[in-house]
Amino acid sequence: MIQAKGYAALSVKAPLTPFAFERRDPKDYDVVIDIKYCGICHSDIHMARNEWGSSMFPMVPGHEIAGVVSAVGSRVSRYKVGDQVGVGCFVDSCRECANCKRDLDQYCLEGNTLTYSSLERDKSSVTQGGYSNVIVVHENYVVRIPNALPLDKAAPLLCAGITLYSPLMHWKAGPGKKVAIMGLGGLGHMGVKIAAALQADVTVLSHSENKREDAMKLGAHHFVGTHYQKVFKDYANTFDLIINTVSADINMNDYFGLLKTDGTLVSVGAPEKPYAISPFPLLMQRRSYAGSAIGSIKETQEMLDFCAKHKITPEIEVITPHSVNEAYERVLKSDVRYRFVMDMARL
Ligand code: NAP
Ligand code: ZN
Ligand code: ZN
Repeated sequence: MIQAKGYAALSVKAPLTPFAFERRDPKDYDVVIDIKYCGICHSDIHMARNEWGSSMFPMVPGHEIAGVVSAVGSRVSRYKVGDQVGVGCFVDSCRECANCKRDLDQYCLEGNTLTYSSLERDKSSVTQGGYSNVIVVHENYVVRIPNALPLDKAAPLLCAGITLYSPLMHWKAGPGKKVAIMGLGGLGHMGVKIAAALQADVTVLSHSENKREDAMKLGAHHFVGTHYQKVFKDYANTFDLIINTVSADINMNDYFGLLKTDGTLVSVGAPEKPYAISPFPLLMQRRSYAGSAIGSIKETQEMLDFCAKHKITPEIEVITPHSVNEAYERVLKSDVRYRFVMDMARL
């Protein structure tokens, strides 16, 4: 076994503490990755607090992993020692269902194996994530980080980047499309950058008026402060596509009214409590409400290559792993510009 160290929540809502654990020795197709950086996603906080009811403890969170290959199994063909690689939200899937076969492995019909707090497929152990110094992953679930992307800035792309890239591509954000991003946090700010690179007309819908200037610098064309109820009238019937990245409970019915006829609002944000949704703002203008989860491994690679080509990287604040608990508090206060990334060498 490989001796690993990291930060873990030992029980629900407990502050994260230093934690020693074991990783499997590499099997034939496994890649051993020396983790250099790991982003802090709001999902890590939902999970550490068991807000979605699926958490297992002790839990080493982290699914925005960027590192360097330090060893490979005997049959690995895609990667070699020294390669820059990343791992996102899942580390395995059934590989046989219709979705796995058509590169929709994020929607594996058997359920994929999440990077942490998930049973391995052979049910022998529970996965542990990237708030650690090393991880062992089957090569099919590892992506290549182009050399043009520095590892610290690449880390948040593995979840925040792909989670916005996938719906923006699926619902065809592009020239002539009015796209709004709800919430300017880790996911939201990636959405602004990617939608702008796709040449859509981009609006930020934010409850933090003090993010107005940042939104424009990040590439948004418009900023709408949602704490004024009046804006829901002023901007009624405006957008073709709205992506909701908000991590908290909000009145979705207000936002549906901002869609044009036949427009779509896609939720990627996953608050603890269900929304109260009225069918009226949807049925009145044949609007759609949809959801989207991360992206496939193939699409994650495509997104990394897209970001390298368009020079898109997140705005990050690099911290030491020892300040993870303070970082969580700041994320909860929407006080992060715009992603915390832990320097795992300082573990
Ligand atoms: P984040 O950095 O905390 O950003 C969330 C943003 O939501 C905040 O910056 C804030 O933006 C807005 N917000 C927070 N509280 C609010 C409130 N009370 N009212 C209105 N707006 C509020 O979080 P994140 O890492 O981007 O993650 C966002 C959500 O997506 C989380 O629920 C996470 O679990 C989920 N997620 C889903 C997927 C997926 O595959 N579907 C993947 C990753 C994460 P403003 O200050 O601009 O209003
Ligand atoms: Zn995430
Ligand atoms: Zn499958």
